Amino acid sequence: MASPHPVVGEIEVLVIGGGVVGSCLAGFLAEDGVGVALIDDGRIGGSNANAGSLHVQMQSRFMRLYPQNVPGMERQLPLYPKGVAAWQALEKKLDAHFDLKMTGGLMVAESLDQLEFLRVKAARERELGLEVEVLGRAELDRIAPYFGESVVGAELCADEGKLNPLLCNAAIRRWILARGVVLIEGEAAGPIRREGAGFVVETKRGPIRAGRVVLAAASGSKALAAGLGVAIPAEPEPLHMNITEPTSAMIGHLVQHADRMITLKQFGTGQIVIGGGWPAHLAGERRHPTVELASLIANATLAQHIVPRIAPLRIIRTWAGINTAVDGKGVLGPVGPVPGLFAAIPGDAGYTLGPLSARLVAEMMAGRAPGEDMAPFSPDRFG
Ligand SMILES: Cc1cc2nc3c(=O)[nH]c(=O)nc-3n(C[C@H](O)[C@H](O)[C@H](O)COP(=O)(O)OP(=O)(O)OC[C@H]3O[C@@H](n4cnc5c(N)ncnc54)[C@H](O)[C@@H]3O)c2cc1C
Repeated sequence: MASPHPVVGEIEVLVIGGGVVGSCLAGFLAEDGVGVALIDDGRIGGSNANAGSLHVQMQSRFMRLYPQNVPGMERQLPLYPKGVAAWQALEKKLDAHFDLKMTGGLMVAESLDQLEFLRVKAARERELGLEVEVLGRAELDRIAPYFGESVVGAELCADEGKLNPLLCNAAIRRWILARGVVLIEGEAAGPIRREGAGFVVETKRGPIRAGRVVLAAASGSKALAAGLGVAIPAEPEPLHMNITEPTSAMIGHLVQHADRMITLKQFGTGQIVIGGGWPAHLAGERRHPTVELASLIANATLAQHIVPRIAPLRIIRTWAGINTAVDGKGVLGPVGPVPGLFAAIPGDAGYTLGPLSARLVAEMMAGRAPGEDMAPFSPDRFG
């Protein structure tokens, strides 16, 4: 029999995946007095690729690309304002500075058709409980006088905002270390097999025995679950990001587009983060997320078209990361057919939903009522 893993041979709960969800979940479980180890094939600390947008309104890109997921997105919609509140609560709880600003978010339109799309979307979102309104150009200019001439109006969602993920990730890492979570980094977990009432999780340095296992490995959860005969259709979606050099404050809001792939926002440090879903690709044997020049050019060109004052700024860094697409909803909670196995995958705009998703799963694992109807998010819905 292989020697047990040298860092932790046996543990009450093994969380696989040290992104924002796995890290926060490990922290919440440790605060409940549970012995937790957290393993990641890279560095633990929480979703380093993401852009720090706190999304609440439905993102037009997801509606356009995955129309079949719109019912799922609508079902998940009420969680987003709660997800933002969970970030605010976490910042307070950790006594940390996340550069979290509730500036509101604007989804801009450049044609009357796009404005009409926003009107229909806003009406539906109001039915579902969001506070949103559609502004014409004159009203928009009063609160956001930085848009290019082609913008005719925008949908405003006051509950949206932004934070700096580098600050958040560092604070979350400090928190979980202080709570005694055992970190195992640079090691892939899996396959997983059942042993008695618990599990054995293979790693390159030896097996880890765990009473319970949480799949918080985003798209990596699919293969781990499949090894236990469970279907979780979580697919990788490699995406591109850019960040400019710092400049004076010019963009207050989180900015998106009704019909084109753009998000942009300005950090407190003055840099402007530009993304919005332009593709990257998975390269080499390790399937490393890798940038594409065409995405860099198209993304930056669109950004300066929407906000012309961006044009003179230099892009100082560009990177790619892996988003995870499921069916528009999170996959959160116990996996019925495999007692002791849990899933914690947040769904679209998963950084926004990270701490909330983690808290909901932690409540279920502790046997407490999570305060939400979790049935729509059950991992068992895929059959
Ligand atoms: C470029 C980009 C920008 C984004 N911007 C935003 C944004 O502004 N706002 C927002 O709300 N969302 C954003 N997202 C989405 C957000 O980043 C994700 O939804 C979020 O990171 C999900 O968190 P997670 O913890 O579930 O997964 P992840 O952060 O993906 O973490 C999962 C971890 O599991 C690890 N892993 C996988 N398989 C294994 C294995 N077998 N063994 C060990 N470890 C494993 C992975 O390496 C990874 O570290 C963005 C995504 C991308 C790609």
